[in-house]
Amino acid sequence: MDKQQIWETALEKLQKSVSTISFDLWIKSLEPIDFKDNIYYMSTTSEQAKQRINTLLKGEIHVALTNACDDIKDFVVLDPVESEEYIRNKETAVQAEPQKFPNVNNFNPKYTFDSFVVGNSNKYVYAACKGVAESPGTGINPLFIYGGVGLGKTHLLHAIGNHINRNKPDMKVMYCTCEKFTNDYVKSLQGNFSAKNSFKEKYRNLDVLIIDDIQFISKAESTQEEFFHTFNSLYENNKQVIIASDRPPREISTLQERLRSRFAMGIIQDIQSPDYETRLAILMRKAQEENYVVEDSVYEYLAEHFDTNIREMQGILSKVWFYASLTGKKHATMEDVKEALRDHDFSDKQNLTADRIIDCVCKYFSIKRDDLLGKRKNKEIVEPRQICMYTICTLLDMPLLSIGQIFDRDYTTVIHARDKISQLMEENQRIKVAVSDIRAMATKS
Ligand code: ADP
Ligand code: MG
Repeated sequence: MDKQQIWETALEKLQKSVSTISFDLWIKSLEPIDFKDNIYYMSTTSEQAKQRINTLLKGEIHVALTNACDDIKDFVVLDPVESEEYIRNKETAVQAEPQKFPNVNNFNPKYTFDSFVVGNSNKYVYAACKGVAESPGTGINPLFIYGGVGLGKTHLLHAIGNHINRNKPDMKVMYCTCEKFTNDYVKSLQGNFSAKNSFKEKYRNLDVLIIDDIQFISKAESTQEEFFHTFNSLYENNKQVIIASDRPPREISTLQERLRSRFAMGIIQDIQSPDYETRLAILMRKAQEENYVVEDSVYEYLAEHFDTNIREMQGILSKVWFYASLTGKKHATMEDVKEALRDHDFSDKQNLTADRIIDCVCKYFSIKRDDLLGKRKNKEIVEPRQICMYTICTLLDMPLLSIGQIFDRDYTTVIHARDKISQLMEENQRIKVAVSDIRAMATKS
């Protein structure tokens, strides 16, 4: 299937899954521009449209695209400036030499040190990241940062990359998630000798390796072994390694002791939830970047009520602005906050884990945990298992690969389960009720 056919198939699904307004306003503004390395690229008509699509319609588009074509793992929406640049780069890449390091130097230009608001909660981690970015490989090594979801870890990692790219353009810097590293490694094992070598060459010839979300490291001996050797090879050559995680090394249960002690050779720095003043500053900065005009009471309300996850807080601010702009107002007020929060779930997502969801599914269907996570294929088990995978996918921000690991299955099985249940929910009331009950059980604090 070519990219146009994929989009046409996805559109049919989207027409049913999103509201007519969203479809006409946002979905119709999208144009496919490329499909490469399992990523589907689309352009839209403005920066604002991109923002709306990413905050409001990401889930639906993801489902429609992955249903339309199995090879799609993710999609990216580009605003007009980005898409022009993308197309230009693509044209020059075709003429240029084949790229040896396809993943090197790919940083989000928005995530810089300048755009990061520093407060008491993050000043040490900020200083450590800045230090490493100024003189990679000569000071703190490795740098290990950790903290809860949405507190700016990925932002800082990209800021380091952007900083080094600008000041030391000859350095080869690579950012990758732990999941990507694992995928790359597993793929190289399936290939021939040269595939294995090119994996080694890619990771061991870097000047700076940045690994995000290391908590998802696979238990598999061989992956840890490869990571260990990659780490040693870089470290011994005075190359910089930076790692981020949602928890400290001692709490990553899958991590082998020898890697844990490697991480302890450098600095382990945590990032805390920002205080009220910092949250206010972050909101105002965001509004300034996006040209939102917002009443002070809105900032104050959001800063007060969203104290654990910056991403969520920023998402709500864009939603507030969206409602204000829908009604043609010049600035957003508390009225728009009410609208934006109408169906917001204030339940405590902090305590929500895959484990908890598994417990709820077992309780709901009265089945044993070993059966749910095991290999039995009878319908009484398979359906709860698929519902469990679906619920984890939709409630937690967790890579498919890691969800697969919980069930000792491939990530494609997770995709299949997720899509199957999402389809069944449309036709089958019993499934719909089960999913919603389990969701309520899991998110109730
Ligand atoms: P994490 O990787 O820790 O889950 P991210 O780095 O993805 O979090 O941050 C989530 C969002 O919050 C991003 O849009 C990021 O730019 C923003 N953010 C987090 N902390 C700050 C900060 N101190 N200043 C500005 N933006 C921030
Ligand atoms: Mg992150």
